[in-house]
Amino acid sequence: MGELENIMELSKRRGFFWPSFSIYGGVAGLNDYGPLGSVLKDKVYGEWKNLYASIGGIEIDTPSVTPESVLKASGHVDRFIDLATACKACKNKFKVESLLSDKGVDMVPSGVEDAWKIMKELSVKCPRCGGELGEPFEFHLMFPIDSNGERFYLRPETAQGIFVNFKLLLNFNRGKLPMIVYQQGKGYRNEISPRQGLIRQKEFNMGEVEVFLDPAVNGYFKPETKEEMYLLDRDGREHHMSLPEAVNKNIILSEDHAYFLEKTMEFAIRIGIDSKRLRFRQHRKDELAHYSRDCWDLEFLMDGSWVEITGISDRGTFDLGNHQKFSGENLAFEGENLARVIEPASGIDRMVMAILISSYNKRENGYVNLKLLKNMAPYPVAVLPLQKKDGLSEKAREIFNEIKKIEPMAYYDESGTIGRRYARQDEIGTPYCITIDYETLEREVVTVRERDSMEQIKDIPYRDLLTHRPFISNPILKGSGSVKN
Ligand code: AMP
Repeated sequence: MGELENIMELSKRRGFFWPSFSIYGGVAGLNDYGPLGSVLKDKVYGEWKNLYASIGGIEIDTPSVTPESVLKASGHVDRFIDLATACKACKNKFKVESLLSDKGVDMVPSGVEDAWKIMKELSVKCPRCGGELGEPFEFHLMFPIDSNGERFYLRPETAQGIFVNFKLLLNFNRGKLPMIVYQQGKGYRNEISPRQGLIRQKEFNMGEVEVFLDPAVNGYFKPETKEEMYLLDRDGREHHMSLPEAVNKNIILSEDHAYFLEKTMEFAIRIGIDSKRLRFRQHRKDELAHYSRDCWDLEFLMDGSWVEITGISDRGTFDLGNHQKFSGENLAFEGENLARVIEPASGIDRMVMAILISSYNKRENGYVNLKLLKNMAPYPVAVLPLQKKDGLSEKAREIFNEIKKIEPMAYYDESGTIGRRYARQDEIGTPYCITIDYETLEREVVTVRERDSMEQIKDIPYRDLLTHRPFISNPILKGSGSVKN
């Protein structure tokens, strides 16, 4: 099985995520988070908010249902379109850009005619059945909603809810730039061929940050990290260097932009994505979104292919300029000056997928050990009586109830052999199991079993574990999950 398949199988069985509406046959591109996935996803959002709050960001929460006028101004009504083609035999639809990429040609055709010409030149056939493909057509990516004669759309990005509020937010920020605004929430895209679980969905979780800058001030934010990164520029050249060096060499054009690449990398590492599977790739001119002047994607290596997980785009003054023109409201921050915008936009579901793939580890005995960082594990700790008999079960429940008061996500399990129960916790990434045994009855001490090393630390007075958020930061408990917090 491939990396993705392993995670899909584990996720469905153990409650991370699964396809939605399956009793009615399911719908491609819609997924549910189960009990563990919901917690993991919220932890990703939590770390993301902490990171942006720590550099002065402010949060906003705006509706998904968006009036047409807003998305007309933002360019989405006219330009948020993919070129598609349908197979004449099996009737499946495909994105032309993906078909060309499968043929080793990375480009976005300029229009329907261009796409048709290239498809014929490369003799592209249906990837599912080998059938003949029809003439390409424009496929609109937004979901329309009509209500009382008025047209709305489900938002394709959360960003517009921030732009239209620029004046109120700036007022809140006492008129000061730079201003960092972030929003979590759902985005909706009518993808032509949704696939790969959480990777390409019709409805997905986004974490978007709009950084408003005074265009006259360059380098308000500067990258600092000396760490070497893998950068692929728009001409396909690979660079292995630090972000400050990439700015010096004009590979990344602004320090502010590079700083938000740095923050994006910091976030990915903080949630447990394997840095060896990450690179930044700059968009070619032909693939830039209509609002973007320059864009670097953070990409994750999965099953041998690179997948975008965050796009860090330089949107310039495009959005504020258009909203000012279409709404008639003055959106300048001073005089006639419009703020320029850098936007790190993360796909939270893709981050969840990247965490799971990075953490997945099969032991020699065939059992899976999910090496989630301690700060990310849905259950930080499990309480397990060695056996049910001799009062061990009762004692374990008593201790569990105390632990629950300080760690609500603690888990209790007494069914099956102790080895089997450890294996069940390893598979969902629980860093510690607390075992209640005969010593506990006699001396109030427990054994803590650590996930990654499988080491058993004996004779820990269990009351020592109850002092602070014990299973994330207690110095008694080293190991499992190497996050330093
Ligand atoms: P974009 O505005 O296209 O750069 O999207 C921002 C982020 O949202 C991307 O980096 C992806 O991680 C995520 N994303 C975009 N489209 C989808 C989708 N159809 N399903 C899941 N995540 C998506």
